[in-house]
Amino acid sequence: MNNNSDISPSPSDFIREIVVRDSAGGKNDGRVATRFPPEPNGYLHIGHAKSICLNFGIARENPGGVCHLRFDDTNPAKEEEEYVRSIVEDVGWLGFDPGEHIYYASDYFDRLYGYAEELIRRGLAYVCDLSQEEIRRHRGTLTEPGRDSPFRNRTAKENLGLFRRMRAGEFADGARVLRAKIDMAAPNLNLRDPTIYRIRRQTHHRTGDSWCIYPMYDFAHCLSDAIEGITHSICTLEFENNRPLYDWFLDRLEIEPRPRQIEFARLNLSYTVLSKRKLLRLVENGFVTGWDDPRMPTLAGMRRRGYTPEAIRNFCDTIGVAKRDSVVDLALLEHCLRGDLNRRANRMMAVLRPLKVTIENYPEGKAEYLEAVNNPEDPGAGTREIPFSRELYIEEDDFRLDPPKKFFRLGPGREVRLKHAYFIKCERAVTDPDTGKVVELRCTYDPATKSGAGADGRKVKGTLHWVSAKEAVKAEVRLYDTLFADPAPGAGDREPEEDLNPGSLEILSNARVEPALAEAQPGDRIQFLRTGYFTPDPDSSPGKPVFNRTVPLRDSWAKIEKKVISNR
Ligand code: ATP
Ligand code: MG
Repeated sequence: MNNNSDISPSPSDFIREIVVRDSAGGKNDGRVATRFPPEPNGYLHIGHAKSICLNFGIARENPGGVCHLRFDDTNPAKEEEEYVRSIVEDVGWLGFDPGEHIYYASDYFDRLYGYAEELIRRGLAYVCDLSQEEIRRHRGTLTEPGRDSPFRNRTAKENLGLFRRMRAGEFADGARVLRAKIDMAAPNLNLRDPTIYRIRRQTHHRTGDSWCIYPMYDFAHCLSDAIEGITHSICTLEFENNRPLYDWFLDRLEIEPRPRQIEFARLNLSYTVLSKRKLLRLVENGFVTGWDDPRMPTLAGMRRRGYTPEAIRNFCDTIGVAKRDSVVDLALLEHCLRGDLNRRANRMMAVLRPLKVTIENYPEGKAEYLEAVNNPEDPGAGTREIPFSRELYIEEDDFRLDPPKKFFRLGPGREVRLKHAYFIKCERAVTDPDTGKVVELRCTYDPATKSGAGADGRKVKGTLHWVSAKEAVKAEVRLYDTLFADPAPGAGDREPEEDLNPGSLEILSNARVEPALAEAQPGDRIQFLRTGYFTPDPDSSPGKPVFNRTVPLRDSWAKIEKKVISNR
């Protein structure tokens, strides 16, 4: 049983409708079994999350439903144990639990081999000695039929002997393959005698060196589904043309009950690459620090960046499941993220680029503690106390020597409110004589403004965040932008590497955060007032916190939405 009951149900879609109809109609005795079948050759990304939410979601929504996590580990060349571990972790983090239903296609190697022999005995498969290149040339094109292999008419006996010798390791890698005997003139190229076994001397992460022949995806996948009693085998649209082959194997081998393949449109996201192969290249070539680099669209990277599973599930529900390919705007993902963080994140103060402020009329050596509400969206989040003293830091950007119109922050002679504290007025700016740069502001404060207004009823337009210089903790802050500068990285003839955004990471090593943040832990989500949502990075060490910016506050999706509505 899946233990995913704390997750609210997703909106329906054409696949959910099929499943409900099949189940109500008594198909498969009303059983519902789906699977999520990653190949353990990379970390899961946000595209996989869509498939996980769909498959595990359907299992959860239907009485007695199960979803298997099956590692499609038929290609030993690219698979690793590290990926298996990360996939199990990431599925769990997203909020889904396969329970005891974790399987490996490699668990079925013996049975798959048996099915291959059965096809041979029944004259439905043959050993072919053509090279890969020759097979490709024989295959024909969409407009031309293929040509039969000269080995197509070997007897079942001869094929069985050769196939067993393939398995016994008597032939070199690539010397022979086993092919299904279907139809070299089939309009669907997948049916032109596809390869179902190849020779590959490669150590497998689970079966070691027991096999030197490995089944191809199309053969292994449908049979793994059938062996596990999967009822609905949900995959992305690029497998639509493989469905006749999926059905061909199951029809010939007459395995009951029969799983049904249903295709849906994969997730494409602007400014994002969703291909494990391409993501692996970014890792291997050092364009990112690893699979969990916070700029990566992997679940591991997004987790480190501060994404919540709720935000990702909500995003998957929002985009829905359709049969037509499209590109989803990254702004929508960030919109879902902000919606979730807004509810859960405490508001705290951090100054990213500090400018020193001295309050000339505040006593030296004194510190007072002011009460601050943690989260106005959540009364249960309580309050905390923040120190205020003579020396503070504010954000460099919040001061201009020559403020333009509508700049409601600080300038010479101007007054602003400090959040949770007093009004301060800038008496003068101290500049570095060499660079002309402002290095300090000399200010005064009005003790009567603690309540948020002047005793004389005067108001100010700007409210700034700040920290007390002595008590604040120095921190490193990592600001992220999209990894790619182009909305469609690697489109056309380009490689994604050519579209990298040189400004995707900015490190601020001199930030100051309020003292309570010294203890923040990875997994905590905090809104730095006026700047964005942040989370501590695992690179933090005691006394030296490192924060990742999860997402800035500005919501470009809300703007896009408004524009769309106003254009109607
Ligand atoms: P990639 O192209 O990243 O290597 P893949 O399809 O080769 O992806 P698999 O490990 O085979 O990776 O994927 C496991 C499951 O996740 C498959 O059922 C696949 O259809 C689904 N999946 C992969 N990418 C996406 C995506 N962008 N949107 C939705 N589902 C996806
Ligand atoms: Mg795949």
